[in-house]
Amino acid sequence: MLSDLTDNSAPSASRTTDTFGRPLRDLRISLTDRCNFRCTYCMPRHLFGSEHLFLPRAALLDFDEIERLARLAAGLGVSKLRLTGGEPLLRRELDVLIGRLAALDGIDDICLTTNGSLLTGKRARELKAAGVNRVTLSLDAIDDDVFKAINDVGFPASKVLNAIDNAKAAGLGPVKVNCVIQRGVNEHQILPMVEQFRHSDVVLRFIEFMDVGTSNGWRMEEVVTAREIVDTVRTRHAISRLPATTPGETANRWTFDDGAGEVGIIASVSQPFCGGCTRARLSAIGELYTCLFGVHGRDIRGPMRAGATDAELSDLLAGIWQRRDDRYSEIRGEQTAERQGDADGRVEMSYIGG
Ligand code: SAM
Ligand code: SF4
Ligand code: SF4
Repeated sequence: MLSDLTDNSAPSASRTTDTFGRPLRDLRISLTDRCNFRCTYCMPRHLFGSEHLFLPRAALLDFDEIERLARLAAGLGVSKLRLTGGEPLLRRELDVLIGRLAALDGIDDICLTTNGSLLTGKRARELKAAGVNRVTLSLDAIDDDVFKAINDVGFPASKVLNAIDNAKAAGLGPVKVNCVIQRGVNEHQILPMVEQFRHSDVVLRFIEFMDVGTSNGWRMEEVVTAREIVDTVRTRHAISRLPATTPGETANRWTFDDGAGEVGIIASVSQPFCGGCTRARLSAIGELYTCLFGVHGRDIRGPMRAGATDAELSDLLAGIWQRRDDRYSEIRGEQTAERQGDADGRVEMSYIGG
């Protein structure tokens, strides 16, 4: 069921499409594999403890390299960049990089996904001034005990709420909030999260717990499906489905019938959206992944550091995209109603970026 969501109509500077006709539009750039949180579903402490070897600084793409690859990607049709990680705000002088990315021809949207822990008012204003259009913050619970247990560094929810206010005040909006729901962990936070963000101009998006990487011990029973989330919200509020506004939109959008705003649900497990997937991901060391569930990325940094020309690198990127046939979530849905945590070397979310 790939074709129904595929959009072939929008123009781009030079159209690069994959084997299913999906254009390359979005590039998610992981700026670091490090994070100051240890979310139990993403970087569990027993695997990302003091012995874990993070990437050495020299291995990371530097700003010149990131800017160059973003420019070449823009030449292939990318218009939207999302900066992520790990925790992207750990990257020093981030606003300098953003200023350079924002100046690129063809790039018209720069977003950032962050846990918010370092998003002070000053930092938010700097990011805005540098060219970030929107930020997405992650917050998996309003209840402090629940949230602290998930982030596993004792970080309180109130500080993420402050960061959301900082983002709003800086004009980094509309601010979105990602909330991953895991059965037995935080499904009782669905309604408190809804109450927190109704009547605000923040768009709350619930995310089905995904089987990315190999370290989160994913089990299908832990996925609270979009259907269940909708049913839970409806125990208290009437909501109606909204049509998608952009092709390839990841979230199902719902509106509160009483006018209190919107809520989104990213149903990547129960309602896969591979057909509209126009996203490529660049790891912090310059590997290109054409699917969040990739096992191997293609090394771009190697040829770049060995002296490849712009034309050679552009051909390399285009060729990878043109051969792309990824539709992991659809295949997972077709094959396994009851798939367990049997991951087979897939790359971690904290490495490739969400
Ligand atoms: N550190 C930043 C943050 O947390 O916002 C950016 C990187 S994080 C990997 C990006 C997003 O991926 C976060 O919203 C996080 O909740 C989400 N995420 C991580 N692992 C996930 C999983 N297994 N299933 C669903 N979402 C996940
Ligand atoms: Fe860090 Fe984000 Fe992963 Fe949490 S979800 S451990 S904040 S990268
Ligand atoms: Fe895109 Fe892969 Fe996710 Fe499908 S599973 S939507 S191809 S990233």
